[in-house]
Amino acid sequence: MENSMTLKLPAVGKNEALARSIVAAFAVELDPDTDELGDIKTAVSEAVTNSIVHGYPDGGGEVEIRAEIKDRILHIEVLDRGVGIPDIPAALQPFYTTKADEERSGMGFTVMESFMDSLKVENREGGGLKVTMEKSLRGKI
Ligand code: ATP
Ligand code: MG
Repeated sequence: MENSMTLKLPAVGKNEALARSIVAAFAVELDPDTDELGDIKTAVSEAVTNSIVHGYPDGGGEVEIRAEIKDRILHIEVLDRGVGIPDIPAALQPFYTTKADEERSGMGFTVMESFMDSLKVENREGGGLKVTMEKSLRGKI
């Protein structure tokens, strides 16, 4: 069972909910349970929100979401062409935020890491960020 999709959305707040619902619908063929679906939605929300809030602090821009199913593993990439992150290891630490004044808790990457099986964060050539996450959905036996 293989499948793939690419989605490009304007980086605006309302598209966070849209992105997470679309990825959840895409994952349904793997028959995830409610917890797994919740994990996937939350992880996508966190990544997309980051692109909107941090990637494009002055507004504008697009968020791209790529998803792929292969060997019962869900691969998700969330990409933007925003400002990127100067110090990625620091940004991955729990409670690290550059927007403490806006009541951000700095837990987005920590949530993605704990809800998914893997998380990779890279600056993109040409600018912006790429967040790659994977989750194995083995289904019921
Ligand atoms: P929370 O997610 O708890 O609301 P947060 O967004 O600050 O707070 P993380 O999601 O863990 O916390 O992100 C940590 C930091 O990494 C951010 O404060 C920001 O500086 C940087 N960051 C995250 N995503 C991006 C992005 N797409 N582009 C630029 N910087 C980013
Ligand atoms: Mg965040």
